[in-house]
Order: sequence, then C-alpha cells, then structure tokens
Amino acid sequence: MTDCVFCKIIAGEIPSDKVYEDDFAVAFMDIAPANPGHTLIVPREHSDDFSVMPDGQSMERLFSATRRVALAALKATGAGGFNTIINTGKDANQIVMHTHVHVIPRFPEDGLKPWTKKDIPKEEIARIAAEMKKHLG
Ligand SMILES: [Zn+2]
Repeated sequence: MTDCVFCKIIAGEIPSDKVYEDDFAVAFMDIAPANPGHTLIVPREHSDDFSVMPDGQSMERLFSATRRVALAALKATGAGGFNTIINTGKDANQIVMHTHVHVIPRFPEDGLKPWTKKDIPKEEIARIAAEMKKHLG
C-alpha cells in the first residue's frame, strides 16, 4: 500500500534496531549514523514531513518520546550532550519522506558541526524577521 521505508519499519516489514515504541511513536537506530547512538524517533502515523505533521498532542508526544530516547542514548554512549534535528524537505537533506527526529549524541571533539555561521547583514536579518512576523500574526 505504501512505499514508505519508515512505515515498513514501523510495521515490522523491514528489520531495524528498535529501541523504543509506544502507541504513538517508534524509535530505531539510524543505519547511517553520524555518531554512536544516532537514533530516529518516528510517529507511527505517516506525514510526509514536519511542516505538515498534525498539530496538538502529536507534537507533545513526539518531543516527549524524543527526550526519553535522547536521555537513554546519553546513558548508553556516555555522551555529554545531544543534538535533535528535524530535516524538513529535500533542500534540508530530508531523505525519507516520513516525519522523523534525529537524536545525535555528542562527544568532545567529535568533528560534527551542525552548521557554520554565515555573514548576513543585520538589515537583511531584520527584513526577514518582519516578513516572518506577517506570516505568524
Ligand atoms: Zn511513512
């Protein structure tokens, strides 16, 4: 019915290293980890990406599960911190089009850099902020 890899993992049709599941979400190890303990938290209900995921209790449950999994990853790996990343859209490097949160444990000098600082003029930042406020009003 679906060609979605994550829906198939959730259904058990594709094997994975699952670490957590409840009636809302499933968490399993990323097969292309950026660091030891790199885990994905995936809502059971399919949505293509975070921008169209249903609002409300879904958000609360996604982030609650994410924090639980992240704390377990810290204990399992001895990491001192973690990044939570939601890639949304192909331009943001989303590869599987099913909403998911990455938990990436972090270690001193692990070489990962989530982003580099860009030199954007203050006026451009202010212009974008004003435009965003129009869409958030
Ligand atoms: Zn799916």
